[in-house]
Amino acid sequence: MGKLSTYWSPTQYQQFESVLNEQRRLLTLELQAALLTDRAIDREITRLRMHLKAAEQALDRLRRGVFGICTDCGEDIDAPQLRTWAAASRCGSCEHRSDMITV
Ligand SMILES: [Zn+2]
Repeated sequence: MGKLSTYWSPTQYQQFESVLNEQRRLLTLELQAALLTDRAIDREITRLRMHLKAAEQALDRLRRGVFGICTDCGEDIDAPQLRTWAAASRCGSCEHRSDMITV
């Protein structure tokens, strides 16, 4: 069993959930619009799809009670990081590490 984060209150989880649901709604609309334009840019569509997937996965983690926990190392993701990007799946140091690998 992974540990459950005690970082956030139930109210804050609800706020994250509505932020993520709204993000998912907007990203879906953006993606639909991007796919309809004849000057659709592949890179932009890929970015929207990735963000949409990230939002969906974060909602799934919320449902499973593991939201806000780094999927790589299991540590709590920093609060400011989650407030900026609620769909973040990795803590700062893991994110940094994966950036260095992919670059
Ligand atoms: Zn981590």
